[in-house]
Amino acid sequence: MGLNNDIVNYLSNPKRILESELEVRGKKYAAYRIQYNDVLGPTKGGIRFHPRVSLNEVKTLSFWMTLKNSLAGLPYGGAKGGVIVNPKELSERELEELSREYVRAFYKNLGAWKDIPAPDVYTNPQIMAWMLDEYEKIVKHKEPGMITGKPLELGGSKGRKYSTAQGGVFVLNELLIKLKKSFQKKDIKIVIQGFGNAGSNAARILYEQGYKIIAVSDSKGGIHNNEGLEIPEIIKYKEENNSLKGYKNAEEISNKELLELKTNVLILAALENQITKDNAANIKAELIIELANGPITPEADEILNKKSIMVAPDILANSGGVIVSYFEWVQNLQAYYWTEEKVIKKLKEKIIKALEKVLEISEKKKVSLRTAAYIIALERIIKASKLRGEL
Ligand code: GLU
Repeated sequence: MGLNNDIVNYLSNPKRILESELEVRGKKYAAYRIQYNDVLGPTKGGIRFHPRVSLNEVKTLSFWMTLKNSLAGLPYGGAKGGVIVNPKELSERELEELSREYVRAFYKNLGAWKDIPAPDVYTNPQIMAWMLDEYEKIVKHKEPGMITGKPLELGGSKGRKYSTAQGGVFVLNELLIKLKKSFQKKDIKIVIQGFGNAGSNAARILYEQGYKIIAVSDSKGGIHNNEGLEIPEIIKYKEENNSLKGYKNAEEISNKELLELKTNVLILAALENQITKDNAANIKAELIIELANGPITPEADEILNKKSIMVAPDILANSGGVIVSYFEWVQNLQAYYWTEEKVIKKLKEKIIKALEKVLEISEKKKVSLRTAAYIIALERIIKASKLRGEL
């Protein structure tokens, strides 16, 4: 892009880093909220509860949110939050207390026109409900647009629950048509790493559309059947057992083996740094969809590019979540709620428009889809920064 040093320096640092220590029943948990850049509007991005959260991770995730929101054409800057905690070790009451503590620590910097959190890894609509409730108690007025990913009863949007996966499926369908021209869905093999909100909903939607899902995994390991897995049965099994381990009608497989399976499509829906310089050469997929944030390291990205494996980058492929968060916020501001059909139709329009722009720039400049996505996202941010006189 030929950016000068001033611009690179400006883009290389977050605008606001908020840190706190949350105390729940005598135990302390480090908590962060980073508002990376706000030239396009109030900042937006999820809150992650995970033992491996760190300041640097939240910083990076908030930068990616800034790009993601810009690429999708949303009127938002980017932010991210995190707490270093294993929520699986907390009771329901402790989890509620932690969520409320988070808002007590950061409420001054949150709000529908300031910074709008949402779910991320190991956070969910119930946690958003506690956070909204705490915020409204402190500020003494109702403000549903201060957070998204809420339960429907508290102003959530229809379709938000599966929107990250749905957006990824829209992208996947379009890119397969580009790659293969004509194909039958039942002949397309798909492998999915990660069985949380994004991964399990992607498995469900793709199964319903007739694709063949041959392997799925969660943090404890995976299952594989080359003839195709019975996804509805597996979703039920995971709900009942909290894990995929022990599922009968498939062979066990490690996460490492799963990534290297021969498949048409590989969907990465777990955490960062899954494909690295150590395993990139062994990847056999034709198309990779990044439903997680940052699952491929920069070195691995180069190796995959050389192997001509097409990668739908995170800031495009998983933007369905924040796109429907935006619709939720719009509905909150209007206090008028849409049908599920309308939400999904508008999601499709927005994500396909972003994809088409990415494909156009990628072809024009002969760069990867990721580089094209970065160019489009950064151009919009830089223009807005200049208009504001920040650059
Ligand atoms: N945590 C999601 C993401 O990484 C959603 C963010 C949002 O809806 O604000 O994109």
